[in-house]
Amino acid sequence: MQKKIPMRRCVGCMASFPKGEVVRFVVSDGKPAIDRTGKLNGRGVYLCRSLQCFDLAMKKKRLAHALGISLTPDEAATLREEYAKEISNAEVTE
Ligand SMILES: [Zn+2]
Repeated sequence: MQKKIPMRRCVGCMASFPKGEVVRFVVSDGKPAIDRTGKLNGRGVYLCRSLQCFDLAMKKKRLAHALGISLTPDEAATLREEYAKEISNAEVTE
């Protein structure tokens, strides 16, 4: 049985990954948030679970640009922490 896997482009390395392998970011109430359920509304921006890609996307302002907002250094730092937590959680098997 073949199922087409939706691909998502990482705004860090700009490569495409299967939907399940990326972290989705959305803007919620004007603030950047990680969409853990994949159900939040809004334009999604994706990163391939790499901290390097997060830093690159931040440095090039691709994340904020893709989300259509501007990030304060505080917001960027908070988001980075959440993202780091999110990608380390994923490695824990249930
Ligand atoms: Zn990437």
